[in-house]
Amino acid sequence: LIPIFLHSFVFRASGLTTLPSILLIGPSGSGKTSLLTLFERGTQAAQTHTSQAPIAVECDLPVGKTASSARYRSEHDPANLTTKKFLLIDTPGHGKLRHHALDNLTNPQNLRGIIFLVDAATLSAGDEGLRQTADYLHDILLILQKRMESSSGKKPKEIPLLVAANKMDLFTALPAALVKSSLEAEITKVRTSRSKGLLDSGIGMEEDGEKDDWLGEVGSKDFKFAQMEEFDVLVEVSGGNVAGGEPVTEKWWRWISERL
Ligand code: GDP
Repeated sequence: LIPIFLHSFVFRASGLTTLPSILLIGPSGSGKTSLLTLFERGTQAAQTHTSQAPIAVECDLPVGKTASSARYRSEHDPANLTTKKFLLIDTPGHGKLRHHALDNLTNPQNLRGIIFLVDAATLSAGDEGLRQTADYLHDILLILQKRMESSSGKKPKEIPLLVAANKMDLFTALPAALVKSSLEAEITKVRTSRSKGLLDSGIGMEEDGEKDDWLGEVGSKDFKFAQMEEFDVLVEVSGGNVAGGEPVTEKWWRWISERL
């Protein structure tokens, strides 16, 4: 616990929290630590160890990727010459430690988006990895949905989510379009089994209770990421790889740059 307190203290004390931040989440082994080191150094990912506490690194948007806030500036504007900085916040993927990720979600400080990193090589039908990943993503999306629903008065800032399908260098990896449809299908199952669980336990029998824990469009048979747009949660899926040869992260960088 001490490193976590230390981190939050350091951020507050140094004023780093004012930087726009991107939260990195996803199941253990999906490549979060590798991505973090790659984005921080801009070179090959380092050998990783299991991360225990959330860490954040300061990243520079690489040259040539103009942040959306600077898009309308003239080429000769000196502001274009300075790189745009942002914080990439890593969270542990272990089930027991997930509440750190959730703390950050429900209490965002200048949070511009969430990258949900998945291992595209473990998402085939029937793979345990698919079920676990869908389970985790379902919960994250539900938190974002509730955040929008529960706000009275001023609408909270929208938080877009990128499903980054990692490890595309592996021949067993599903292409991004299939990652999307597989996750949608599996989240449909999670959603159904969760609502059954609630009915069985008697929780959520009241009129609103059940609806509150239902992800996406009420009454829909199949879950689609597009259903999240109603709650101002824009979900995109795109592929790449952090390690396993030359890194391919162009689409993810572009997604980040459009949020800064
Ligand atoms: P974390 O638990 O989410 O932090 O995942 P790590 O960053 O520790 O990565 C887990 C394992 O996957 C490590 O052995 C990485 O080297 C490997 N890995 C991460 N990204 C890629 C990738 O794009 N391709 C391949 N082939 N392996 C990767």
